[in-house]
Amino acid sequence: MAKTVIIGGVAGGASTAARLRRLDEKAEIVVFERGSHVSYANCGLPYYAGGVIQERERLFLMTPQKFRDILDVDVRVDSEVIAIDPAAKTVTVRNAGREYVESFDSLVLSPGAEPMRPPIPGIDDPRILTVRSVPDIDRVKDVLDTARPERAVVIGAGFIGLEMAENLWERGISVTVVEALDQVMNVVDFEMAAPVHHHMRDKGVGLYLKDGVKAFVRDESGLRVELGSGTSIPTDLVILSIGVKPDTRLARDAGIELDARGYIVVDEFLRTDKQGIYAVGDAIVAISPLTGKPMPVPLAGPANKQARLVANTIAIGPTKPWKGAIATAVAKIFDLTVACTGLSEKLCVREGIPFRSVIVHPGSHAGYYPGAQSYALKLLWNPVDGKLLGAQAVGRDGVDKRIDAVAAHLGMGGTIHDLAEFEHAYAPPYASAKDGTNYAAFCAENIQEGMTDSVTWNQVEAWKARGALLLDARTPGEFELGHMDGAMNISNTEIRNRLAEVPRDRPVLLYCGVGLRGYLSERILRQEGFTDIGNLSGGWKTWQAATSPQTNPGSFRPAQKRPHAAMHDDTVSEGSGVPENLPAPVGPTLNVDTCGLQCPGPIIQLKKAMDEVAPGTRVVVKASDAGFSRDAQAWCNITKNRLVSVTEEKGTWTATFEKSRPQVPSATMTNSVPGLHVSGDEATIIVFSNDLDRALASFVIANGALATGKKVTMFFTFWGLSVVRKREKVKVRKDFMGRMFDMMLPGNAGALNLSQMNFGGVGAWLMKKRMAAFQVDRLEEMMAAAIQAGVQMTACQMSMELMGVAREELMEGVETGGVASYLEAAGTSGINLFV
Ligand code: FAD
Repeated sequence: MAKTVIIGGVAGGASTAARLRRLDEKAEIVVFERGSHVSYANCGLPYYAGGVIQERERLFLMTPQKFRDILDVDVRVDSEVIAIDPAAKTVTVRNAGREYVESFDSLVLSPGAEPMRPPIPGIDDPRILTVRSVPDIDRVKDVLDTARPERAVVIGAGFIGLEMAENLWERGISVTVVEALDQVMNVVDFEMAAPVHHHMRDKGVGLYLKDGVKAFVRDESGLRVELGSGTSIPTDLVILSIGVKPDTRLARDAGIELDARGYIVVDEFLRTDKQGIYAVGDAIVAISPLTGKPMPVPLAGPANKQARLVANTIAIGPTKPWKGAIATAVAKIFDLTVACTGLSEKLCVREGIPFRSVIVHPGSHAGYYPGAQSYALKLLWNPVDGKLLGAQAVGRDGVDKRIDAVAAHLGMGGTIHDLAEFEHAYAPPYASAKDGTNYAAFCAENIQEGMTDSVTWNQVEAWKARGALLLDARTPGEFELGHMDGAMNISNTEIRNRLAEVPRDRPVLLYCGVGLRGYLSERILRQEGFTDIGNLSGGWKTWQAATSPQTNPGSFRPAQKRPHAAMHDDTVSEGSGVPENLPAPVGPTLNVDTCGLQCPGPIIQLKKAMDEVAPGTRVVVKASDAGFSRDAQAWCNITKNRLVSVTEEKGTWTATFEKSRPQVPSATMTNSVPGLHVSGDEATIIVFSNDLDRALASFVIANGALATGKKVTMFFTFWGLSVVRKREKVKVRKDFMGRMFDMMLPGNAGALNLSQMNFGGVGAWLMKKRMAAFQVDRLEEMMAAAIQAGVQMTACQMSMELMGVAREELMEGVETGGVASYLEAAGTSGINLFV
């Protein structure tokens, strides 16, 4: 009867034992575990500390007794293997002060990895704890329950450090995270970690980056963490989580081959260099299928799967090799999910692997179905053969399944073309017909095919250094709420008519909110002969997240349960989300729910509400648009109203505004469209076109301008009259030309066609469908909103006569007037647009 001894009784060890028994009923299986527990949920330990997992018993998946009863496996806890003799095929075991020798035919090492504890001065203080095992978390829990610390410092911002930070925060402790690198979660690239930095700040968690611990100092008030920068952070508890190292002293002493970092070297059948000795889990290093080089992957999934294979090899023989891990991981960081698979950009750079990347911001499911939330997805591939290299995602809903989908393709050697064709399960509550993973792959294909030059956020400065014009393809309303310094604004719907403004003698770098509209403009410009042109991948959203301040120093305060933090200005207490010393509102509070609306919908609703209330009244706006918190601040800056607080919970932002008294007219602003100087608080728009897209653009601008407090006049002339005609046909007597125009022109706003790609009306139909999918109001809804909000709409009397349009045919609320009424409005207007 063959005898297998297993060292380590948790992820890899316990799984090996269970599989081996299922394969070989006759085998003798002995598991030695140094600790008192086997097969426990080490991944659940942080959640037990935070109280999310309440019963300690739930951490234990199996007990030694269950192993015996169910699997007939001899599990010996509190038994440390202290020596291995590979030649004699024996191990020496210490249990309760007694040592004995046990023989084996096969030996499986699954000793795991241990937290690093470098010799920093003061590190032996009992308040500095690490988290690896059940006794470790018992100690943490004991400190939390008995000493009731108010402040904690977590050192190291990897998965475990951040999970611990979240769970301490959940218990109402003021938490500060210290990280030596310039980002948290080093497994993802900087720009994908940036949203996590901002999220931590929003939660009121202190964050120090690029700062290491120099010493721990005890004083009468407690413990102080002294950083290399000179910052000194007082604390009651420290969680040290700066990484793990393989627990392989035993293997080294036995002469088993280790690599330079101390990992056990194994072949594809997980065999060490000693006959009959195998190793799995965190302690080993195996060849990465992506780099072809040894790469440790200290994760539970690979440990469990290696265990299954090693049991096969022992029971059946070396038939199924370990193909290597691609390092797929996920973590919950407060309300965010961060996940990755394969190689990051920095790993590609380090390994000299050619790569291209793209960042997209798709929705978790169809935009028109309530609750959709956007996530950022970065895809990396090899431009030589199109093979997938890696992916990273950060967001709230649906992040994990997207990374799993990419991982499935990546693990099978898939390409961007495979991912583009990936057929996923779709219904509106779960996904979009084109999933985010498809969409990222489409973008990758476009880049490969040379349809676009995708520029990454950190290449912007190089483009600027080359003298590039930054061309913002968003709407003027969005532009006004924040843009890159020196950028010119021509929205993607205007670009065809304003080609002359785009210089041909310098590079042009387009950007928009997330990358799509910039790409649309790029395609137009390329086809118009522009060649030195690029589009910012991930758009303003990624660029802004990556280039704004990342740390949150000095937010370390006495304990209070962090509800959800605000992110803004001096009207809000720093980082806490709890406004301090604010006078109570004078009037009743008005609540406005804009959830489901996309920009600028929430801002328009806000403006409407603020117009209705008296000075001093507060308006509370709920929004699911992630950009709303920033827009809210920008809107207040422009309108001089007061942002009292912004809080966020599970992807819904709640912003409280106070109407200023008296309301100050909007500030003077400038934008960088040549020849267009913006001042004052009026805007006039001439609508000359009856193209659906141009009409849409004019109403987006009108509503945007209204939302920032401007008085707006729209003047409809010639073809533009179609836009303001009633939907229902009005019987009026017309001359021959009038009847001709009637027959040939669209009768009302609902019948307009696209200026480009109309394809006999199919284009317009598709555009309307797409607008519905993205929850963009229909043109008629925008017009109704504009009229209701007080936009002055004037139809040109002269062109009405020429085209035989009667007064009765115009929509309710549309005046008629001559050029004088237009000029009167234009004379005092700061913005004057011709659409
Ligand atoms: P372990 O599961 O660590 O087991 C090793 C065991 O060997 C230990 O119990 C140790 O006491 C015992 N041992 C060592 N030397 C001896 C000896 N000489 N004699 C007897 N016994 C010995 N991974 C994920 O994929 N997702 C997660 O969410 C995740 N969260 C985690 C959270 C925490 C707090 C921790 C600590 C780890 C987490 N991991 C996670 C990592 C995951 O737990 C490990 O990758 C996995 O447990 C590795 O399995 P292993 O068998 O190699 O080592």
